Formats: sequence, structure tokens, C-alpha cells
Amino acid sequence: MQLIPIRSAKGAYLTDYDDRVYLDAISSWWVNIFGHQNPTINAAIIDQLQKLEHVILAGFSHEPAIELAERLVQLTPPGLDKVFYADNGSSAIEVAMKMSFHYWQNTGHPKRTRYINLSNSYHGETIGALAVGDVALYKETYEPLLLKPITVPSPDCYLREEGVDWEQHSRQMFEHMEQTLAKHSGEVCAVIIEPLVQCAGNMRMYHPVYLELLSDACKRHNVHLIADEVAVGFARTGTLFACEQANISPDFMCLSKGLTGGYLPLSAVLTSNQVYEAFYDRYENLTAFLHSHSYTGNALACRTAVAVLDIFEQQPVLETNALTAAHMARRLSELEDHPHVGDIRQTGMIAAFEMVPDRRSKTPYPWQERRGMRVYRHALDAGILLRPLANTIYFMPPYILSEHEIDRMMDVAISGLNHAVS
Ligand code: PMP
Repeated sequence: MQLIPIRSAKGAYLTDYDDRVYLDAISSWWVNIFGHQNPTINAAIIDQLQKLEHVILAGFSHEPAIELAERLVQLTPPGLDKVFYADNGSSAIEVAMKMSFHYWQNTGHPKRTRYINLSNSYHGETIGALAVGDVALYKETYEPLLLKPITVPSPDCYLREEGVDWEQHSRQMFEHMEQTLAKHSGEVCAVIIEPLVQCAGNMRMYHPVYLELLSDACKRHNVHLIADEVAVGFARTGTLFACEQANISPDFMCLSKGLTGGYLPLSAVLTSNQVYEAFYDRYENLTAFLHSHSYTGNALACRTAVAVLDIFEQQPVLETNALTAAHMARRLSELEDHPHVGDIRQTGMIAAFEMVPDRRSKTPYPWQERRGMRVYRHALDAGILLRPLANTIYFMPPYILSEHEIDRMMDVAISGLNHAVS
């Protein structure tokens, strides 16, 4: 497959060297929420560039890092009062995993060395983050290198039985988690989950009730909850953070991707004062959390994130997204009776459908047939960037698309589907 070098981009459009234009329906891997060359973000970066591009964030600090931390604490669920910076989503997961483990070490629980995760989960591809994911395609090769999580079946509502709704299914599936926590809590640091949508695991979704039950159970069993909002944070699911839909405050919340609107690599791990206090001690006691990336809290990246928060403050993003999401839902409903569509699902600004040989049996097309690739190629020819995950065609558009642009994106996806199943 030929790579497509991009010469420039503006709003939701990418332009290549042959002047072909592509509508980026997946926000450049889910990061570019407010479009390319966004005037607010560009201006902030230019201004910051003239003051300070980067400085070591150990023993030193700077205004954008402080302002961003203060504003994230205000915006995230109550109880998340401290911010640790890293520079990408996977690193944020590593930080949360290490910090949780280390908290238990510092507080006299040395046997807590394991993590509970969900089947079909994805948390990144560095060794620690890969270990707590469960997508075989990315993980299998490295299995001998990886720590072994305790994997609980996902509440994925695609797998629910007929006549069972999302909430019932999610509740039923929680039983597995409850039993696992009851059995293993003494050896577990944390449960790690992607709230509401397992994105890289083919956009599988579940009901917020699962998060409610999980948060309650983690508290009862005295185990941390790590919410990986790397992909679902920043209004992707209909609320600023997905955890809000279950009204929960996790012990750790990992943020990246939309945090800088797709401009620069940055991530943040939010946690509680209680966790912070477990590390804060006299130097000789050696309880500090030592995790330092060179570009931690980069000033340009932090200022970019501040500009993203300004956009959220100045524009009715959630309200606009609700209208856009409703329009996507209307268009998707056209596929309800399609003989090769096994499921249509949506959570806010994430929508997906499943290509299947037969809609009654949900047996997937064999992966070797690469039907998703046919959709990808078809869409590119029509000027739309879609990037199906195996047989799942999904949409994660930037928040700036008009109804007309959503229509174009949907029309091309539907013709791509018909082409791929023919
Ligand atoms: N967690 C989730 C839920 C993700 O979707 C991703 C990236 N797709 C990551 C972590 C890893 O982020 P990064 O690619 O920035 O390392």
C-alpha cells in the first residue's frame, strides 16, 4: 500500500502533493478534535514559542503547566486533585500502573502486584500498557515479555443476547468482575478500563451502569480504579469525560489525544490527594515516585492544551456535538435492515457498524479477506479518510463537521460497505 504524503491541512481536510483532498473522518487517530490549523490553537502556540518552548520539569515549572493542571483539576470529576504529566497515552498508562503499585508498596501492601483488565481492551503499546490490553493482534508476539493481568470478560454489548438491552447486559457482565475482585483483591493494585467504549478493540460499547458498579466494587474491595480516557476524554462520548456519565471519580484518570487537539504529544494522569500523600515524605525514606520523561510537561504542548480548554470554555462544544451525533444516528439508522450489517452502535461522537456475512448469526467475515481494507480504499478514492478496524467501520470525526459533511462521510461509508460485501 502506498503512503500518502500530506502537504497541508485545514479544518477537517488533508491535502496531498497531487492536490487531492481527504476529509479526515477519524480525526487523525482520534486526536484532532477541533480541526487542523485551528486559529485559537495556532495563535497560542506562536505566542508560547516566543516565550518558552521547553524547560526541565524537575525542580522547575512554568505557567502553562501550572495553568493546565489547575484547569484539569477543575474540569475532571471531584477528588482528582493532582496532575502528573507524561508525553503520550501509553506513558500515561505506565505512570498510572506504576503509581498504583507504588502506592500499595508505600502503604504496607507489598503483595498487591497485579492488575485486572477487560477482555478486548487496549491501553497502548509500550510493554506495561500492552500487557494490560487484550487485543491479540498487538499483543501476542510479545507475550513472553509481558506481565500477566487477570482478565475479566468485557461488558461489550455487541455480544448481548437477543432481547437483552445494554443496561441489562452490562449489569449481568459485571458479575464476573465482582467475583474476580472478591477472589483476587488482596493481590491486585488496580482495575484498568476504557470507560464506555473499547476503541481499538473495534469500538465495542457498554452501558455506564457498569462503571457505577465497578467504582463501587473497587471501593468495597479497596482496589484502585484506573480510567483510561485517552481516547474517550474531551467530549468524545457526549460528556467532557466519559466517567461523568456514571457519576464516578476514579483513582487515576489518564488523558491524552484530544488534550492538545491533535497538535503535540502530551498526556496527563490525574489522581487524588490521598495517593499523592503516600509518596510525599522525607527524602531518606525513599518513597518518591521517580518517573521522568525528558519532554514531560513540554511548555508548547501544555500551552496548546490550555488553548483547547479555552475552546471548550468559549464554544458550545457539547451542544454542537449532540446535534452532530443525532445526525450521525439518523444516517446510521438507514442501515438497520441492511443484510450485511450486524450491529449499529453509537456513544456520542463515536459511531460504528459491523460488516457481517449474515446479520442473524454474528459470525464475522474471515480477517484474511480484509474487507475493511476494501472500504478504506474505496473511501480514499472518494476523498474520505476512514480506517476500519477489521470488519468494523467506524466514525470518530472532528467536532467541526457540518451536517452536509457528515452526509458525505456516511454516503461514502455506505457505498464502501456495499462494495466490500459484494
Ligand atoms: N489508551 C487508549 C484507550 C487508546 O486508545 C490509546 C491510543 N489509541 C492509548 C491508550 C495509547 O495512546 P498513545 O498512542 O498516545 O500511546
